[in-house]
Amino acid sequence: MTHAVDDFRRALVTGGAGFIGHHLVRALLDAGLEVAVLDDLSMGKRENVPSAARFVQGDVRDPQAVDAALSGVDCVFHEAAIVSIRASVQEFARDADVNLMGTLNVLQRMAKAGVRKAVFASSMAVYADSPTPTPLLETASTKPVSPYGIAKLAAESYWLTICRAAGIEGTVLRYFNTYGPGQTPTPYVGVITIFINKLLAGEVPTIFGDGEQRRDFIHVNDIVAANIAVLRDVTPGGIFNVGTGNATSVNAIARSLIEILAPGIQPRYAPEQEGEMRNAIAGIDAMRRALGWKPSRPTVNFDDVVAYWKAQTPTARS
Ligand code: NAD
Repeated sequence: MTHAVDDFRRALVTGGAGFIGHHLVRALLDAGLEVAVLDDLSMGKRENVPSAARFVQGDVRDPQAVDAALSGVDCVFHEAAIVSIRASVQEFARDADVNLMGTLNVLQRMAKAGVRKAVFASSMAVYADSPTPTPLLETASTKPVSPYGIAKLAAESYWLTICRAAGIEGTVLRYFNTYGPGQTPTPYVGVITIFINKLLAGEVPTIFGDGEQRRDFIHVNDIVAANIAVLRDVTPGGIFNVGTGNATSVNAIARSLIEILAPGIQPRYAPEQEGEMRNAIAGIDAMRRALGWKPSRPTVNFDDVVAYWKAQTPTARS
């Protein structure tokens, strides 16, 4: 059963100045919703937020900031987080403070604010490591290997339980490795963005481990489409993987990007990073069956990402 398109009028996107958040904000505006954004700009950029959106600069741990952002809102997309497995290994208390306690604060305020639907951005990092690149179903073992995954897993349970108690349709989307234009460049998150920027700067990309670890790379437009599918459909709530179901090695990503941007270069290899999974591939039948969603780019295609970064890098234009 689908909601009427105008069932929901006002959305809040936390983390809406960040990579996934700002793509989602645009899609929600395009769908005719009024959109509020709550972001502390620790990673996101103010210029990512369209002028049509109401912007509240603040922290998800701050009750007043969350209340201000929630004013009049009937649906919430909680994207704000510290998105770094490596940072979570080093600073697990800070990770949990934002990614778990911040989420609980959003939940606490939301339950009193008249919200009817709420989607939580979780991660493949909640799963136990997988020795083979076999697709993981939502029922697969959840034994996170990183503090980031532990906080996301705990936040998921709170999300579903508190939403249910408050009469909110609560959904958890477990995103796999997301790529696309406008990803926030950091040294450790988003291998495609990192490699492109290194190669455009004339530097050698570093592969951690042997490069044969396999990931499920999903384009940000498909992540956005999954969120919109949840908004449009009446679901009993629950947990859904959002990936493509296809495995790609880090070596394969490096090879393709080198071929396009710096033929002949050899990547550098460095020791494996603590907290990283060997394989993380999504089983996506649940999302397909419940919401009719499927990825529009089942295999990795980063042409638009390369074009985006070329346009941002003046020396690469010539
Ligand atoms: P991002 O870093 O680009 O965006 C996160 C946003 O949250 C940033 O704009 C940042 O400024 C904001 N933020 C951080 N701490 C905050 C706080 N205390 N208060 C308010 N705002 C705060 O990351 P992203 O890739 O867009 O990730 C969005 C969501 O998707 C996150 O919840 C992340 O865990 C999840 N996710 C991402 C991926 C991926 O591959 N990018 C994979 C799985 C899950």
